[in-house]
Amino acid sequence: MAQVVVIGAGVGGLAAAARLAAAGHEVTVCEQSPAVGGKLGWYERDGYGFDTGPSLLTMPHVFEDLFAATGGPPGQDELELRRLDPIAAYRFADGTVLAAHADEEAFLAELDARLGAPAGADWRRLAARAARVFDAAERPFLASPVRAAGLGRLAWAAPGDIPAVAPWRSLRGLGQSMVRDPRLRLMLDRYATYSGSDPRRAPAALVSVLHAERRFGGWYVPGGLRRLGAAIDARARRCGARVLTGTRVRAVTCTPGGRVDGVRLADGIRLPADVVVANVDAAALYGGMLPTGLGRAGRRRLRRANRSMSGFVLLLALARRPPGSTRALAHHTVMFPADYDAEFDAVFTGRLPTDPAIYLHTPDDPACAPPDGEAWFVLVNAAPHLPSAGEAGLDWDRPGLADGYARHVLDLLAARGFDVRDRLRWYETITPADLERRTGAPGGAIYGTASHGARSAFLRPPNATAVRGLFHVGGSAHPGGGLPLVVLSAAIVADLVGPA
Ligand SMILES: Cc1cc2nc3c(=O)[nH]c(=O)nc-3n(C[C@H](O)[C@H](O)[C@H](O)COP(=O)(O)OP(=O)(O)OC[C@H]3O[C@@H](n4cnc5c(N)ncnc54)[C@H](O)[C@@H]3O)c2cc1C
Repeated sequence: MAQVVVIGAGVGGLAAAARLAAAGHEVTVCEQSPAVGGKLGWYERDGYGFDTGPSLLTMPHVFEDLFAATGGPPGQDELELRRLDPIAAYRFADGTVLAAHADEEAFLAELDARLGAPAGADWRRLAARAARVFDAAERPFLASPVRAAGLGRLAWAAPGDIPAVAPWRSLRGLGQSMVRDPRLRLMLDRYATYSGSDPRRAPAALVSVLHAERRFGGWYVPGGLRRLGAAIDARARRCGARVLTGTRVRAVTCTPGGRVDGVRLADGIRLPADVVVANVDAAALYGGMLPTGLGRAGRRRLRRANRSMSGFVLLLALARRPPGSTRALAHHTVMFPADYDAEFDAVFTGRLPTDPAIYLHTPDDPACAPPDGEAWFVLVNAAPHLPSAGEAGLDWDRPGLADGYARHVLDLLAARGFDVRDRLRWYETITPADLERRTGAPGGAIYGTASHGARSAFLRPPNATAVRGLFHVGGSAHPGGGLPLVVLSAAIVADLVGPA
């Protein structure tokens, strides 16, 4: 039995804690903030409740596997997953609206009906390619640790899969070669943002995200996605893990021989450990939490990668529209701008996009709004918070910036047919700077590093670090961000540590 300290109670940290405790280790989780869940946050006020981070759950089998491996499925009253249909409504600048039906044939028919043939046939070919890439990546990449030996080559793909994975091609390039309708290309481009990346630089392999969403569906957790975090937290505790909130770790400590031997808390107390699992962002871990000299390789690797995008979140507490006048709104709505590239240009050079894509999460869930209200979560891509000049970021704490941009986004919503200004009771903003303060992610970068270039997968920090006994779990580590991937990273870490 090893003494394990997990730094951070994000979904990845909690899932690793549950697995390691179930495997017989003595596990302590140290979370700096008063609540668990990390980016999977929740905000409530005046009868309104909002998921402040993730709103779409994909690959539910990954969570089922976690619960199965740690004691069995959670009770229906503890965690319910509801399949969404449609998964989202897409709205384009030319006025086209289409529903991404969960059923593939219905979706393809919708594409032909709204965009005109051969949109459905093109998408079918693209979906087949996405399935091929996903299958090629699933076991050797998504479910396995990457090792330094893989650097510089596409180590996970079997030679026969290389033409499908097309490491020389960008996601944008793949779209241009496979689908004709520009609106389909926008839909494909958007999957790059699931890893905080620019589709023009993201590898074509990210087409696998399309498959993950279409094949396994989009899901919601009634009561809010925060209940998923609560269920994993409860599972970790039931397996014997100790979860300490309000407990910030300042440093990982090592023996003179360079092996991990514990962590030092912000108040100076030292917790001994045989194994440390860091669920903090890689930039924070390698930027100052390791003894001098030990984080050098990790820092070098991160310097070669771009920081991922962040997000600007607007929580809108609205009065409900009078019966009969309610405009039908899907659970998720994506509004594309006329010029998507201008948005990526702005975000990756530290500017505010003037006409960004807008993502709405408007759950019809009594847990999220009072009977006479509606809770809208609005998300736009944003440059990270980097107040110092010279880097591609913004000072999101500049007085007036967040409120000014919030009003701009409300005006844009109005211009795109969703004028809610007359029924707005109040709003809250969550800027990249707020995200940094709440979750410790430097700059509020949601996914650590962006996936730019064929080698980006190998620039992402590995789960087994170069420091003996130190493991890394979560969205900034392999295999990447998003709820299912961080839970996969926890399974990889638990395997690397092994049973007690
Ligand atoms: C606005 C937004 C929308 C998103 N939408 C989706 C979506 O729809 N679907 C999806 O799948 N994913 C989405 N994501 C991404 C998803 O939320 C993340 O990939 C995932 O939650 C990250 O989990 P993690 O394990 O990396 O930990 P994190 O959530 O990053 O948590 C890390 C934890 O470590 C703690 N910590 C940091 N430093 C210390 C320290 N020194 N000591 C102690 N504790 C520390 C933090 O407080 C935090 O609780 C979204 C994220 C955001 C922000």
